[in-house]
Amino acid sequence: MQEINIFYIIVIMNEDELKKKLTPDEYRVLREKGTEAPFSGKYLNDNRVGTYMCKVCGAELFPSTAKLDPAKGPASLSGWPSFDQALPGAIREISDNSHGMHRTEIVCANCGSHLGHVFDDSHEKTGKHYCLNSVCLDLKTDQK
Ligand SMILES: [Zn+2]
Repeated sequence: MQEINIFYIIVIMNEDELKKKLTPDEYRVLREKGTEAPFSGKYLNDNRVGTYMCKVCGAELFPSTAKLDPAKGPASLSGWPSFDQALPGAIREISDNSHGMHRTEIVCANCGSHLGHVFDDSHEKTGKHYCLNSVCLDLKTDQK
């Protein structure tokens, strides 16, 4: 019983801390399942080598080697940074029927923060197209 109470308090405190740590736009997307405006994200055309991490908890999510050229994918997904593969176990997929559509939401497996959606895409070698919000990510580049 006590453990449950302690857990509850930690979650509440974290949300308050996150509101201070994140910008209002970041908080809206990561914690309230929002979507950043297309073509607005800072990582859309970023080709640096490194690892994309969760903005909230720092877990490693996507290697830059899995990043797609958004201009070559489906036009409807071209406004957001896209990947064809996540690091093993890094993300969780959740069925999402909001906004009258059937989509698959992706969240950070470590902290549960919203990241974007994954679509089937037969053009990619994995058959998957992970569509991310830049505000959910932090790129850790290989060179300092
Ligand atoms: Zn996370």
